[in-house]
Amino acid sequence: MKSEMLESALEIKEYIVGAKRRLHREPELAMREFKTTEYVRSELSALGVEVLPLGSPVGAVGIIRGNKKGAGHVSALRADMDALPIQETTDLPDRSIVPGVMHACGHDCHTAMLLGAARLLVARRDAFSGTVKLIFQPAEENLDGSATMIRLGVLEDPKVEFLLGMHGHATYDVGQIAMRAGQYMASSDFFTVAMKGTSGHGAYPHRVACDPVLAASNAVVAMQSIVTRQIDALDSVVISVCQINGGTAKNIIPETVEFSGSVRCQNPATRDTIEGRIRRVAESIAAAYGCEAALDYHYGVPPLVNDPELTSRVRKSAEKLVGPGDVREIEIPAMGSEDFSRYGELVPHAVFARLGIRSPGGQAPQFHNGNFVFAEDALPYGAALYAQFVLDVNE
Ligand SMILES: [Zn+2]
Ligand SMILES: [Zn+2]
Repeated sequence: MKSEMLESALEIKEYIVGAKRRLHREPELAMREFKTTEYVRSELSALGVEVLPLGSPVGAVGIIRGNKKGAGHVSALRADMDALPIQETTDLPDRSIVPGVMHACGHDCHTAMLLGAARLLVARRDAFSGTVKLIFQPAEENLDGSATMIRLGVLEDPKVEFLLGMHGHATYDVGQIAMRAGQYMASSDFFTVAMKGTSGHGAYPHRVACDPVLAASNAVVAMQSIVTRQIDALDSVVISVCQINGGTAKNIIPETVEFSGSVRCQNPATRDTIEGRIRRVAESIAAAYGCEAALDYHYGVPPLVNDPELTSRVRKSAEKLVGPGDVREIEIPAMGSEDFSRYGELVPHAVFARLGIRSPGGQAPQFHNGNFVFAEDALPYGAALYAQFVLDVNE
């Protein structure tokens, strides 16, 4: 027997799918979600949801107050709204009409699901006593959007106690929901090393005696020893140098070689040590080669850690919708990152879950690919979980 909430979500499937198709057709890149924001705000108003003045042209927050007697809690639901610089290659009727821009990560679907949840919750004001904030954030893909929303005060006044976010996931079927307690996703930081030597003739390297190409090459290799020789093998860290720039001709030793990379960590304490380790490797190797290294290190988002207590409550909410057999355990943390983690640092209880989007028996859709398809059948499940969560945390 289907849960009452899932029934209701399936009844408004046309509304949710309609919203998704509209958003999918006109994707907007990070921090340029102007039309998307306007659409979300007008939909919320049409549903009778109070829209908070945010002081930003991108991002929207709706607020729904329950009518049930009792103290109630302040909960929040978060969706992201930005698209990617990818040309859509599907031939679906709602394919992107914006050249080179596509919702290839399903953020259109997350937004549509949260609009669906707004509709489900407005119809259930009498069934919960608390206050719920619906957070539609910009710019998840560049990992900046949550910081923007936090700066705009979305977690304050009233202060959010319980937060749920979710992302479509290709390894689970439609109708399945997955989560894990504790460490779930990695931090994401970036660095650039500028290796400075002296420019000279490629035939006479001894005359300059400080070749930055050789120094940078060695530093790139040595950096991998941080992961393999300095960090516990069970404490996951990834350091990837993904960019190297330097030189203008085959026979000129350049003055400077720059390389940049990405650092991912599961453990916040380990994360705090990586900048220093990279600096030591870069500077020591530079010195050995008679060069100078300058490190520019940028801290992005922290690791995403799901609150264990709330995770078990969300699991129960999900079980009400799909049954225990279709609520899966995420066995292994991921080294990818989510800017949801910034909220998790500030909200006492936050959980980020996965929503199955693979059509049963079908192929797993490829995220960040022009052929990406988020199964529309999954949308009511996401909307129902958002709404059920609000009822359950106010129980
Ligand atoms: Zn993405
Ligand atoms: Zn995404």
